[in-house]
Amino acid sequence: MKRRTRPRALTALLALALALCVCAGASAEKVSNVGFYFDTVVTLTLYDPEPGLMEELFAACDRYEKLLSKTVEGSDVDRINHGGGQPVKVDPETWEILRRAGEISEASGRAFSVTIAPVTALWDFTGDPPRKPTSEEIAEKLPLVDDSRLVLGEDGTVTLPEGMEVDLGGIAKGYIADQVAALCEGRVTGAVLNFGGNVYCVGRKPDGSGFNVGIRDPQGSEFSTKAVVTVTDTSVVTSGIYERYFIQDGVWYHHILDPETGVSADSDLASATVVHPSSMTADAVATACIVLGRDGALELLDRLGLDGMVITREGDIAWTEGFDTATQFRLYP
Ligand code: ADP
Ligand code: MG
Repeated sequence: MKRRTRPRALTALLALALALCVCAGASAEKVSNVGFYFDTVVTLTLYDPEPGLMEELFAACDRYEKLLSKTVEGSDVDRINHGGGQPVKVDPETWEILRRAGEISEASGRAFSVTIAPVTALWDFTGDPPRKPTSEEIAEKLPLVDDSRLVLGEDGTVTLPEGMEVDLGGIAKGYIADQVAALCEGRVTGAVLNFGGNVYCVGRKPDGSGFNVGIRDPQGSEFSTKAVVTVTDTSVVTSGIYERYFIQDGVWYHHILDPETGVSADSDLASATVVHPSSMTADAVATACIVLGRDGALELLDRLGLDGMVITREGDIAWTEGFDTATQFRLYP
């Protein structure tokens, strides 16, 4: 009897071990889906997701677009922008984004300013033809750019002086990436959540390694890579001057504006990458870095205790002290 049961138990054990290997290994289910939100292609890749999770994540994107887009009528941002100087009650999430935006605005010496909206509205970087406003138009709107005048009430309200407006384009995708990543917690073995320049990597690849994220070569084509980082459970956010731009009279005009001038930041940077578990922080800080330029960007990152790398318009690369260890980054090819 004993002789016969032993091999059976062994077989069962072997089968169990094999099943575990298969689960942890090559046959992990990987599903990818693409959507278009926040004016950006959103690509979500999930490993071994719980049933229904993908749909839930895209539903969240939909909800956030309706809450935070300045072009969606009735969104929180639309209501704030049309508040006529009166307090506007907003969703606690909108309030929290504006609170954090205010902190980063202050820390960056206003290089990051969500009240840039009246000036961004004058520009069209992707139209055919694109639009560059006159200096008179800019001068008229520039006094409306002042994040220090945005008031967050303890009662969950937001008040903006008449004529001022907010644009969350430099921070909202980061916040949404954080929320979508949080929804994945414990419900996937890994995920890569790509919101244009904001990539959130959750967990690990089926083989246990981290996810590779390429950092584009600003001087090259859409597909050329300057560096690759390997990360787990963190976000990699890149802001660049090559996404939305036009060239006029030899000047490169792009969608990140200097709040002091109302014109595209003319710093020495072509891109800035920030790696941090808060994609919202990384998003806003990466935008500020483009305005500040190489030295100001590295100083800001150090001061805030963040890791990142910058690429200048000349193609030089610089990074914070901890960036190496945080990302095992290597130059490419
Ligand atoms: P992307 O949205 O392409 O990922 P960014 O995160 O750098 O790039 O954000 C750029 C967007 O942020 C602009 O399209 C505009 O809506 C807004 N913006 C432009 N300049 C500033 C600025 N100085 N501070 C805050 N937001 C800005
Ligand atoms: Mg940003």
